[in-house]
Amino acid sequence: MSRIVMKFGGTSVGNTERIRNVAQRVIREAAKGHEIVVVVSAMGKTTDELVKLAKDLASEPSKREMDMLLSTGEQVTISLLTMALKHMGQDAISYTGWQAGIGTESIHSNARIEHIDSTRIEQSLRDGKVVVVAGFQGMDSFGELTTLGRGGSDTTAVALAASLNAKQCDIYTDVDGIYTSDPRYVDHARKLSELSYDEMLELANLGAGVLHPRAVEFAKNYGIPLSVRSSLSDEEGTILLEEPTMEKNLIVRGVAFETEIVRLTIGYEIPFNGSLAKIFTTLAKNHINVDIIVQSIMEGTQPSVSFSIKKEDFAECIQVLETNKENLGYQSSNFEIGLAKVSIVGSGMVSNPGVAAQMFDRLRIEGIPVKMVSTSEIKVSVVVPEVDMIRATKALHDEFGLAAIPV
Ligand code: ADP
Ligand code: ASP
Ligand code: MG
Repeated sequence: MSRIVMKFGGTSVGNTERIRNVAQRVIREAAKGHEIVVVVSAMGKTTDELVKLAKDLASEPSKREMDMLLSTGEQVTISLLTMALKHMGQDAISYTGWQAGIGTESIHSNARIEHIDSTRIEQSLRDGKVVVVAGFQGMDSFGELTTLGRGGSDTTAVALAASLNAKQCDIYTDVDGIYTSDPRYVDHARKLSELSYDEMLELANLGAGVLHPRAVEFAKNYGIPLSVRSSLSDEEGTILLEEPTMEKNLIVRGVAFETEIVRLTIGYEIPFNGSLAKIFTTLAKNHINVDIIVQSIMEGTQPSVSFSIKKEDFAECIQVLETNKENLGYQSSNFEIGLAKVSIVGSGMVSNPGVAAQMFDRLRIEGIPVKMVSTSEIKVSVVVPEVDMIRATKALHDEFGLAAIPV
């Protein structure tokens, strides 16, 4: 008997009709003889609405209380889905993250799963029940509730699949697979039948919200076949693998984008030694995530370093820099807001020089200024004005022939 983990996102459980539809789907899989663990998100936009309630009451709500609040969303769904399953004649039981044994590090709002004690789930599966687990939540070693970061139910699902030795993990969502770019914004985006873990990891980290990056990390590390498919149709989705066999001709397989990027520049009047380490250690100690870093030192010019961060970290970053100005030894600083990051991703880039040049050339033709660049073996990212983000994405999608892939 093989085990399958099925995960349903917010839209897929957005109302009771949809929950009934999910229950039918689960029963269909169970009838094939599989042991089923289901992971669900909060219904529809519940998490956003809870965040809004909190912000109405406090501009900087306590992270502990936010986790307490947000973890209620998933709890509603597990109980409703389990009721529906039982009503349809399928024995089932719901578990919160902590009841399911999901242990996380002691960080609120963005905790990593550290271990899973699956004793209870194993017992329920042996008893012939479908197990329904609340996504996005866990408990730290002090008994505090934690959440895994927005979109984190995907990670609950894949981590459970790893710990339960599941044959596969299927992510059911409101699109029927992983596309060459977000189909909500790019009309001619095409569904990919396969994609490598590495490419998806880059895309997810670079803003493609279809999968939580840590879910992809888990799937890669434990070799779990992970698929993304529609909760509303039976169409085949996209499967993540170590090495895709289809569409090998593609050098670039996806274009991702991310809004709300800020660029900071720090200037020194005199040449300096070792300050780079000081700056980034100080920022790291204050949990400020720095993304792209650009420094070039030329004799006879004043040294400066630019780096990008997310807007949500901006106020804190400025405060940290100001507080530590003397110690860091810089004289001037400035920033630019209203930026975005657009990235092309594809494992074919490793062996194809000139991809970055082609990207820059197309952006030049489009009249889109490039503010920062960062590359890895399988991606090139550019920081551009936010107003040009979607235009840049569409142009690059076209430039690398992504719309033309036969499906
Ligand atoms: P869920 O609530 O099921 O977790 P999400 O909203 O988190 O769903 O993820 C699905 C959404 O991801 C899609 O509606 C789509 O707009 C967005 N998305 C972004 N990039 C991509 C991509 N490359 N392929 C498919 N969907 C994408
Ligand atoms: N409900 C959470 C969110 O909206 C987690 C998830 O859906 O994966 O981010
Ligand atoms: Mg999601």
